[in-house]
Amino acid sequence: MAERERQGGCMCGAVRFVASDVPEVYGICHCEMCRRWTGSALLGVSVPAGNVIWHGREHIATLQSSEWAERAWCRKCGTGLYYRVTERNEWFGATEIPIGLFDDPDGFRLDNEIYIDMKPDSYAYVGEGHKCLTRAECIEKFGRIGEAGEARTKE
Ligand SMILES: [Zn+2]
Ligand SMILES: [Zn+2]
Repeated sequence: MAERERQGGCMCGAVRFVASDVPEVYGICHCEMCRRWTGSALLGVSVPAGNVIWHGREHIATLQSSEWAERAWCRKCGTGLYYRVTERNEWFGATEIPIGLFDDPDGFRLDNEIYIDMKPDSYAYVGEGHKCLTRAECIEKFGRIGEAGEARTKE
């Protein structure tokens, strides 16, 4: 078994994956696109480019949801599978997988929350010592990626 390998899949099992070099930390995104896509917030583990093997690819549908990234889901059950950077920047190919998709979703540590100022006031995630970035701070750090909140119409 490869180092830090984890497996998972969608709700119906048509799509399965094996990921290696899976970080032990995850981030939460409260941007408007992630909020609508997931129905709440994206709790995602960012797996480096090329480190995910997908099975049942014929069941994976993708949407270029902005100029720099795509989102994917299972055609059979609708499970949101990943967010992947498609723009050729330093994050190209990085794949954010929701932690809920892993067969064993335990053992991840919250590292950061981004777009924290866009989080609905009706809930909050508990964690100690993790970083929080506002929308403005995200724009400063990620450049165009920070414009996700306005990108809905660019599908
Ligand atoms: Zn499925
Ligand atoms: Zn987001």
